[in-house]
Amino acid sequence: MESERPTKVEFAVQMTCESCADKVRAALQGKPGVTSVGVDVGKEQVLVESSLGVAALQALIESTGRRAVLKGLGGSQQDLGSAVAVMAGAGGVQGAVRLLQLSEERCLIDGTIDGLEPGPHGLHVHALGDLRQDCLSCGDHYNPFRRQHGGPADSERHVGDLGNVVAGPDGRASFRLEDSQIKVWDVIGRSLVVDSGEDDLGRGGHAVSKQTGNSGERLACGIIARSAGLFQNPKRICACDGVTLWEERDRPGAGTGRSKDGPAAPAAHL
Ligand code: ZN
Repeated sequence: MESERPTKVEFAVQMTCESCADKVRAALQGKPGVTSVGVDVGKEQVLVESSLGVAALQALIESTGRRAVLKGLGGSQQDLGSAVAVMAGAGGVQGAVRLLQLSEERCLIDGTIDGLEPGPHGLHVHALGDLRQDCLSCGDHYNPFRRQHGGPADSERHVGDLGNVVAGPDGRASFRLEDSQIKVWDVIGRSLVVDSGEDDLGRGGHAVSKQTGNSGERLACGIIARSAGLFQNPKRICACDGVTLWEERDRPGAGTGRSKDGPAAPAAHL
């Protein structure tokens, strides 16, 4: 289901003066879904409480001409755990998906995946965090209760069944879901996989509908790793060479790939 619950999102934003901060504030304040905005020029930090997805907030900040890098995501209550899966695959499919446990029963899943064919794509948590054979070694859909495959709203489903995300004409799927069966603490160390086709949610009548949703090949995957909540990530944007927090995950530590003139890392737009 779509999430309307407000969460706090922390961005690092390169700001040099109070007038920059005013522009960032103006871009966010009063927008539908935005509850509060805090801007700290000295810390180059923007903290937003809203029910909008990370990608939507980032687009608002970046409409001021500044770059924003996601640093943390937190619920309004205590921090019950958060994780991130940075996804990569063949054909330039890449993305990042954050998971935030809002309560025992609700897990917020907020992500962006780029490079997809327009249309629906199955998204699942798989049992294993094993990428030695790329996405093929991730195991099956995470299914601790030995159920049949289904959709996220079904009681008969794999815990890992998140249904479909939909890519637009630009190949980007941005989504913000809440799920009642996923628990961050159960899925850390497992993997998240996006598929080439639509998940039929077990209703397609195909031989594998009740096992996989017949959603085609595994396009991209990433290990679900524990991540920082709000304010737990002391790392700053490295302004010296333009390489940001997100990009560092995808770039070599040295050499030609580590340059702002190199190919843009899709994660930088998240
Ligand atoms: Zn399944």
